[in-house]
Order: sequence, then structure tokens, then C-alpha cells
Amino acid sequence: MPDQYDYDLLTIGAGSGGVRASRVAAAHGARVAVAEEHRVGGTCVIRGCVPKKLLIYGAHFAEDLKDARRFGWNVPETSFHWPTLRDNVLADVDRLNAAYTTTLKNYGVEIIHERVTVTGPHSVRLASGREVTAGTILVAVGAHPVVPDFPGNEHGITSNEAFHLEAIPKRVLIAGAGYIANEFAGIFNEFGSKVTLMNRSDVILRGYDAQIRDRLVNISTGKGIDFRFNAHFEAVEKNEDETFTVRMTNHDPLTVDLVMFATGRAPNTRELGLEAAGVELDANGAVKVGPDNRSTCGSVYAIGDVTNRIQLTPIAIREGQAFADTVFGGKPTVVDYHDVPSAVFSHPPIAAVGMTEGEARNTLGTVKVYTSDFRPMKNVLAGRDERALYKMICESETGRIVGLHMIGPDAPEILQAAAVAIKARLTKDDFDATVALHPTMAEELVLMR
Ligand code: NDP
Repeated sequence: MPDQYDYDLLTIGAGSGGVRASRVAAAHGARVAVAEEHRVGGTCVIRGCVPKKLLIYGAHFAEDLKDARRFGWNVPETSFHWPTLRDNVLADVDRLNAAYTTTLKNYGVEIIHERVTVTGPHSVRLASGREVTAGTILVAVGAHPVVPDFPGNEHGITSNEAFHLEAIPKRVLIAGAGYIANEFAGIFNEFGSKVTLMNRSDVILRGYDAQIRDRLVNISTGKGIDFRFNAHFEAVEKNEDETFTVRMTNHDPLTVDLVMFATGRAPNTRELGLEAAGVELDANGAVKVGPDNRSTCGSVYAIGDVTNRIQLTPIAIREGQAFADTVFGGKPTVVDYHDVPSAVFSHPPIAAVGMTEGEARNTLGTVKVYTSDFRPMKNVLAGRDERALYKMICESETGRIVGLHMIGPDAPEILQAAAVAIKARLTKDDFDATVALHPTMAEELVLMR
């Protein structure tokens, strides 16, 4: 009974995962609608990866313009005009939002610009009151920034608001020490803010290799970023002059012009009505799914950040593709979560794939570790005392590379290609057999000792 429901698929959320799943399902012949309460594109396109990366490019000019003088360029006094960059970035976000919308329409996917609440295994209610039914419901609603609970937390912003600031703050406190905190610490610092990063623990970027993390702390400190560890919020007070005084454990109070929370993200499942369909959530509110992305309700699936597996855009896209191919394309597909490369667009950036040295030692026992600790040629001439670090972890007996970790200019660009070799289970000998491409930073990968 093909017309038993209004649609074959109703996707909730038009982010990276939801858009991919919807358009592929439609290409497989399904009648698809996608409900989106905000803008088509989701976190990555509207308030995440894309505008963030453009700000990173903008921020890097601060160093490039300084270094240019050492390369013979007569660079007159420079100044930075935030509204120009902000508005250009937001215009590009508008362009992408339109492009995503057009793609969905071209595939015949209906866009419902309303919040929906799930009312049963095959039904949702739109904010306007209309009931819509679908053979399959896909939950792709993403996640939202978590703000710690303490007096005065309403005075802070999250990365959502950072793209719309009226002005760059003179002094900013960033709470958290993960991806967003370190990326925005670099951005604000390059734009001239005095940046203090505070974290509840004494580590940054949990999950990354310890030596690489230490190098980032070291370089960031050298650039003027302050770190406050083992610090828990006590209060944020707003002062008469519009500044904020932040009180925290183990450290003196700090007065700043902006407080930004980058303390993790939680699945957007509150008040979504999933319980009406018998969809189980885990303790963090994430939809529990099997390897086929199916929830505890047979007709409801979930992909992307709302499942809290790996909160990365390319993973959400793969999950969306796998879901659509499995359910509507007759091609059962399971996403492979091994050797997923990741990057932190800090200044300088970090990139990694596979196990850290600690993980490898715990898992494999003995491992061989090779490093290259070098000052990139460009930094030498620029008089920039900033060293890159590449680290390769290999299985002792076979030499198979089980982890590759890098911090230095363009590390994510270099690691993407190397990640193919790690995924293909290549060995240190395979890397060494490859002739170096000189002079590059990437050649260090085949010259490690
Ligand atoms: P992260 O998980 O990277 O870091 C969260 C930080 O906040 C940690 O330092 C953590 O401390 C701290 N924290 C967590 N909960 C609390 C709390 N209740 N009170 C105080 N501090 C807390 O989260 P982000 O917000 O930076 O980013 C969210 C996710 O988005 C990332 O996990 C990543 O998957 C994705 N992302 C990816 C990017 C990329 O690929 N380049 C860029 C930006 C985001 P502790 O160290 O003690 O755990």
C-alpha cells in the first residue's frame, strides 16, 4: 500500500546528515519530506565548520601580514575590520543555505519549515497543528551547545552567537578546552583579543595524543593565550560598564568583555516526542541505534550528532547515505567507524587518525613510535619560533601504522592523504619506500626516525 502514508520518508532536521539521507532516498524513488525549524544546512553550514573555517582563514592573515615583511614585502600599518569579515562570512552562509535548499528541491524533496513533534511510530505533528504521516521517520536533529549550570551563566554566549558579534571583545574568557574552545581561542587571539581559556580538568582536547596537546598548549601560551585549569565556575557577574567578572575555583576572579561557553554539545531530543514512538534514549539524551541506524522503534531511524557516536559532519553524511541506501536503495550498508581522521583548526592546526601512543600501548603492548620535531622552513625565515610535531605509532612486529598525529601548518590538509595509507593498513616501510617530495613539510612523513 504505497499511499498508506503521506510520505515514504519524513526526515526531521535538514543538516548535513538529514539533507544527504533525504536526497539519496528521493533519488532511490521515495516520496520524501524534510522538516526544519531553522535554516537548511544545519550546524556545520550555518553555525559551525563552514563559517568557523572562514574565520580561521581571516584570523591567519594577522600572522601572514606580519611575516610578509621578513619576505621583503613593504606592508604598511594594517588594521582589522571585523564587520567586513563577519558580513562576508554570513553572506557565504546564505549562499550555501540557498544551494542546499535548491538541491533538495531538485531532488523533489518537500521542505517543511516548521518544528515537528513525533506523535507515534509513523506520525508527527507540525507546529501549525497539522498531522503528517510517513512510512519511515529519520531523526537527524543534531545537537546544541551545553552551558554549565551556575549563577550568571545567562551572561555568556556559545559558538552559535560568536558568528554574529557586534565587535571583537578586548578580553574574552572561553570555557572548555575541546575543539571549539581551542579553535576560537586562536581566532580571537589573532584578532587581538586577550584570550583566557579555562577548563574544569587539567587537559585540553581529551582524546588527542598527549605530546601533540602539550605542543598546542606550549605554542598557544607563546602566542599570549592564558590557560586556567581545574577551574569550575562559581559565578559570572555583569558590571555597570558592561564587562563581566568571572569567579571560579582555584583561580583569582577575572574581568572580561565576553564569556563564551564551549563545553560540549548535547543531542536535541528534548520535547521531540520520541517516547510516543517507543524510541529509547541513552543517559545523555542520544537516540539509541543499532549499526543500521535503526532505533528501538522499527520505523524510526536516527543519524548524526543526535546519536552521539562521532560528532563529525562527514560521519553524519556517511550515516545518512548508508541509511538511504539500506532502507530505500536495497543496498544494506554499514558505516565503518575505524580510522576516522579528525582535525582541530587551532593556530596551528592539529590532525590525527588512529590510536594515540597511550591507546596503542594499552591495546597492543609494545609499539614503535617515530617522531619528527621540526621548525617549518617558512617559520624559520619569518623568525617565528614555532615548531611542528609529527608522530607515527606502529605495531612493533609488523610495522603497521596504527596512529598518525600532527600539529603544524596545514596539518589537516596533509593528514587527509596520509589517512588513506593508514586505512589501507600500510607500514612504516611503505612510507619509507616512498621518495620524499622536497622541500615540503609533508616529506617528514617519509623521513621519520
Ligand atoms: P568537546 O567535547 O570537544 O570539549 C568539551 C570541553 O568542555 C572539554 O574541555 C570538557 O572538559 C569541557 N566540559 C564538558 N562538560 C562540561 C561541563 N559541564 N562544565 C564545564 N566544562 C565542561 O566539545 P566542543 O563543545 O568543543 O565541541 C563539540 C563537538 O563538536 C566536538 O566533540 C566535536 O565532535 C565537534 N566539533 C568538531 C570540530 C572539528 O572537527 N574541527 C570543530 C568543532 C566542534 P574535560 O576536558 O574535563 O572533558
